[in-house]
Amino acid sequence: MTEYANKGTQIRFFNSMTRRIEVFKPICDDQTRIYSCGPTVYNYAHIGNLRAYVFTDTLRRFLNWKGQTVTHVINITDVGHLTSDEDAGEDKMELASQSMEKDIWQIAEYFTQAFKSDLSQLNVLRPTLWSTATDHIHDMIAFARVLEDSGVTYELATGLYFDTTKVPNYGSLALTPREGQEEGARVDPIAGKRNATDFAIWRRSPSEGKRQMEWLSPWGPGAPGWHLECSVMSMKYLGSRFDIHTGGIDHREIHHCNEIAQNQAYAGHAHSGANGWMHNNFLIDRSGKMSKSKGDFSTLSSLIARGIHPLAFRLMCLSTHYRSELEFSIETLAGQLVRLKRLVGAISSLSQQVESDSWMRIPAELGFSSGAAFTYPRTVLEQKLSPHGEKLLDGFDREMSEDLMTPRALPFLDETINHGQLCAEEKLRILASMDLVFGLKLFETRRCDLALRPKDASLSASEVEVLLEQRQQSRRAKDFSNADAIRNRLHAAGIEMMDGQEPSWEWRPLLR
Ligand SMILES: [Zn+2]
Repeated sequence: MTEYANKGTQIRFFNSMTRRIEVFKPICDDQTRIYSCGPTVYNYAHIGNLRAYVFTDTLRRFLNWKGQTVTHVINITDVGHLTSDEDAGEDKMELASQSMEKDIWQIAEYFTQAFKSDLSQLNVLRPTLWSTATDHIHDMIAFARVLEDSGVTYELATGLYFDTTKVPNYGSLALTPREGQEEGARVDPIAGKRNATDFAIWRRSPSEGKRQMEWLSPWGPGAPGWHLECSVMSMKYLGSRFDIHTGGIDHREIHHCNEIAQNQAYAGHAHSGANGWMHNNFLIDRSGKMSKSKGDFSTLSSLIARGIHPLAFRLMCLSTHYRSELEFSIETLAGQLVRLKRLVGAISSLSQQVESDSWMRIPAELGFSSGAAFTYPRTVLEQKLSPHGEKLLDGFDREMSEDLMTPRALPFLDETINHGQLCAEEKLRILASMDLVFGLKLFETRRCDLALRPKDASLSASEVEVLLEQRQQSRRAKDFSNADAIRNRLHAAGIEMMDGQEPSWEWRPLLR
């Protein structure tokens, strides 16, 4: 562990289970084990889902920065679960297979790769382990047999069900108690279910027609219920008690309550899985722009196609605390692109002021993208900092340690850049250290990478940069007709000039 890792602010996280902010104490000293619920791979990931992985990645990077070795497991749900969390409705994977006229296994493989590619574009570190549901069917059957033997299940014609009255405090994680709630009117209730909150452990295939994905089991051919895989895989790889379980806030009400019930029935009541449960809030769209009819900004590739760099989306996520709703707007996103570009530009001019940049290559050598568990030695900061530098980094540490308060930690980047009493090299070392946590690739990205890629390809990114510069010169020289001609050319290429606006808005993608 590095010197810095041993000091600094005590980490405190909000635990959804206890509903308060608590001091974070890993079970094993300097090792943290995290399980994150992954996607069901029947479609491209929605940017609201991607927010969950930017959050988890920031959590992991910050723990690394504090000297923790993090073992991180994310699952891939490639067994279709149903269009409702309530075990009714149609199988999402089977539906995708029908509509895309592809084999269900091809669907799973295709969207798994698309998801991983999204994460890599968002600079999300590869987890220590990707665990795939279909690789664990036998483990799930064995787990379900233990549940059956312990008397918490019952069998119906449709499969094996968990009786949620058999575990104490079922659903205590949920914000909304579900007792007495009727199953949604949209889906058929399961005949014979004893309690509304009971859920499928094993879904038996319907007698008519064969499912594309099904396995033999003691309860007939079929597929595991969705909640089972997370209990089985988290326990297999992280143990029956690990440190943090993450997921979107929508998982808090049903999926995670069911995981906890399964864990308790399997391993004893003390074993609810994780010590800490952390949930990120929704990404919401008041503008309606994410809908297909109004332009469709719902996937990462749809943003990229409009000239938004994926790391601008990462920056947008970091600009709102993970437990708050993140309000999506394309204008905000365009503003974050400009902010990112300014940060990259400032760092590049600081770099020009220092003689050697050998230290800047260190982060890459640490294996940022390697899947192995590792700690970040504070190599970039081994040299002693000045009291001003210490103060900046301590401020950053304080905000991040308080339940990952990224919106209040981000301004430390600007404060460092603009600091009047630090030399360029010390600024760079501090910025590099902060970016280990933010993951914005401030040192690896070039300004031209962030330049807009005009849709009509008549202009290259560097040509755009040149035109922007020429336009500025024309304006300074009061040659407004030339400035206007350049503006029109840029406009045709999908770039809107933001003269007379907030100073940070030099230009943005033309929002159409
Ligand atoms: Zn899960």
